Amino acid sequence: MGESLIDLRDVRLRVSDDEWVARQSGLGQLDICGLRFQFDQDAGVAKQYHTGSARAIGTAYHAAVETLYNEYHEDPIGVGHENLGALAAVIDDAYMEEVRLAGDRFHLDEGEDHGTNRAKAREMLVSYVEGGHYLPADEWELIGTEITFWDEVGVQKVKGTIDSLFRNRSTGTYRIEDHKTAGRMWPKLKESPRKNVQAPFYFAFFVPAWCEANGVALDYNQWEWTYGVMTYAGKFDRRIGTPRQWHLDLVTWKLQKAQMTVEQRLYWPNPSSNLCSAKYCDHWDVCPFGAAAT
Ligand code: SF4
Repeated sequence: MGESLIDLRDVRLRVSDDEWVARQSGLGQLDICGLRFQFDQDAGVAKQYHTGSARAIGTAYHAAVETLYNEYHEDPIGVGHENLGALAAVIDDAYMEEVRLAGDRFHLDEGEDHGTNRAKAREMLVSYVEGGHYLPADEWELIGTEITFWDEVGVQKVKGTIDSLFRNRSTGTYRIEDHKTAGRMWPKLKESPRKNVQAPFYFAFFVPAWCEANGVALDYNQWEWTYGVMTYAGKFDRRIGTPRQWHLDLVTWKLQKAQMTVEQRLYWPNPSSNLCSAKYCDHWDVCPFGAAAT
């Protein structure tokens, strides 16, 4: 099999096409359904993009927030709301790209339409900006958005992408911020690594690789993560966490579980998951427990 050269800010690894690469999303998929995990891992399985209103609104909002930090961090509103208008255009473009990608696999529920969905995403963005929920440039230095990282744990390759990385100008604390959208406010402790391995995965693999690549001493006391959660109704909440040893242990266990699953090919399906639906599973069309079972 061929090899590809991956370049991460001076961290270079050769990764064979046929090697299994552990991703945070993959470990999360395995928690949901072993078959989803298998479909994602297996090369050659036709993956058809499915989406629905919630996912498309979330994608559009996410694109605008990323653009906000990359281009309008100093002044997201702008003179005469010019910058906010540009961000609204980003939302429209990103949403319509979802429509294009999904084609007839865009699942609109009764009463939903694309115009109303785009308006909702724009209102969420306005709430984020005018509600003062973004991380202000005079307090937070943006280090980067959509930073992809690779690492090796023994023979295991790991990969991930963080939404954004900031550094507090007065305390020097590094913050990994992930942008989330949700139907309602997150319940208490939903940000816990017990529920979502995402942040610990970043701490286990991204932080050491990034520190090494950038000549920064690794000190977990200088790091935190946040989930910026925006609801479709425009309410915002920011959940904050700091690294603990059990978070890293949890990642190790999940990685081992994934390795055993791959080695022994124990891909247990989970059709009882509420994410086992045409809206939320890209493998619905090919899975024997998806479209074929209805
Ligand atoms: S359709 Fe359901 S059972 Fe099949 S891969 Fe998706 S989530 Fe798993």
